[in-house]
Amino acid sequence: MAAARRPFFCGNWKLNGSIAESLALATDVRNGVSSLRDVDVAVAPSFTALYAVAKRLEDGPVTVAAQDCFWEEKGAFTGEVAPSQLADAGCKHVIIGHSERRQLFGELDAAVNLKARAALRAGLAPIICVGETLAERDAGETMGRVQAQVDAALTDIDHASLERVVIAYEPVWAIGTGRNATPAQAQEVHHFIRSRIAGRAPAVAPRLRILYGGSMKPDNARALMAEADVDGGLVGGASLSAESFVRLVKEGSAT
Ligand code: PEP
Repeated sequence: MAAARRPFFCGNWKLNGSIAESLALATDVRNGVSSLRDVDVAVAPSFTALYAVAKRLEDGPVTVAAQDCFWEEKGAFTGEVAPSQLADAGCKHVIIGHSERRQLFGELDAAVNLKARAALRAGLAPIICVGETLAERDAGETMGRVQAQVDAALTDIDHASLERVVIAYEPVWAIGTGRNATPAQAQEVHHFIRSRIAGRAPAVAPRLRILYGGSMKPDNARALMAEADVDGGLVGGASLSAESFVRLVKEGSAT
């Protein structure tokens, strides 16, 4: 990654963990990374553990992300959580448009954009996920799909707000499969995303962090991070053990 951008690793815990388990994992992650200076680290517990984990981590270097949000502030939207409520609970980031939300819950590009804009209004940094399916890659549609997702997600987001956006490139075929994109495959798409953003915000693009997600592990993090446009990781499975997540962060931020 370029020296201008601080590496950023976010552990996406998905639907895992009681409050007690989340606190224990968060505490171990904080203790494991507390001596590292040149990297940003976040964890994304389930909604039920957000407040407790944020309280536990409030004095340390590790920040807290939510895994999703709604775009409205309040009202008759049973089951939804507003970005301002997440900020109130202590979150600094929110993951938006994860492929599991898109594939399992029918989340569309337009909803991703509404959520990203609402998160920014609430002072949160959205981590916007994009990525192609295996069928799209095999059909040569990777760049077209990613371009459509990036363009839609960033519609009507001004340059000042764009400074706070993080993009996560997560090829769907690599998520939870144990099959990561090669560093070259990741770099090709990360570079494409940065060029696309440079087209609309040339001053912001060199500073915008683009994370890789998809079976990132301690033993492939360093090679992925050696690529010029890979600035960190959104990490699922390997973030559920403090030992592997801390090792991954150390490996990834050592390049
Ligand atoms: C993810 O869920 O964002 C992810 C990248 O998962 P995994 O690391 O398990 O592939």
